[in-house]
Amino acid sequence: MSAADLTRPGGSAVWVPSVVPPIGVELSDAQALAVAFRHLAEIGFAENMAGHITWQPNGQTEMLVNPWGLWWAELTASDICTVDENARVVRGRWDVTPAIHIHTELHRARPDARVVIHNHPYYVSLLAALQTLPELVHQTGSLFLDDLCFVDSYDGEIDSAARARELVERTGGANLAILASHGVIATGRTLAEAVYRSATIERVCKLAYHVMLTGRTPSPMKRSDMAGMQASLIERAADVYWAGAARMTIKADRRVLD
Ligand SMILES: [Zn+2]
Repeated sequence: MSAADLTRPGGSAVWVPSVVPPIGVELSDAQALAVAFRHLAEIGFAENMAGHITWQPNGQTEMLVNPWGLWWAELTASDICTVDENARVVRGRWDVTPAIHIHTELHRARPDARVVIHNHPYYVSLLAALQTLPELVHQTGSLFLDDLCFVDSYDGEIDSAARARELVERTGGANLAILASHGVIATGRTLAEAVYRSATIERVCKLAYHVMLTGRTPSPMKRSDMAGMQASLIERAADVYWAGAARMTIKADRRVLD
């Protein structure tokens, strides 16, 4: 192995902050989820009312989810519903679409995926239409090093557990899957991780697309450097990103917590 192949350390192995700015409010799980919807809508990740975020806390079979019919930008904590592992609504005042099976089957297959986020952000959808994953041309793209999957054909609407299981098998355990002619699935061990991956993949795809437009070859990054940066982004940046997103979302409209 050459020196260039050695993984450079990153994350908490290199530096742990002595203090980080808090959200400033104690959030229930439903409140945190409502904040996540509002934030991702605010940064352009959501195609109006499409898509879901599910959160299945460790050791539970039930999961929190958004209902059918409300846009991500208008959700409040009291709109959040609870479904069981087979996608039946067990609590909440609204209904949930069969598309939720993507999430129930992913949670079932992936014990590490406690939060699953799916929607159709514009630049992800653009590269998906071109049948390509984004080239990682900037250090923040290191978040997806060896953790990207492209599902290269579209098989129509996911409306059953069986169709969802097939799709989940094709995502191959990656935390970020781009679906041809459809959108993206981001997973995380925590809400912060999944939200950070979601926000970041849209920016990564936008940058990659604009680099493609120039027709020029982007500057390469060393794999060893990217590995260290990946650890820093996951261990250090995700929680801080989430706290800031939550502070700003709550400040913009406190009714998100209702
Ligand atoms: Zn979708």
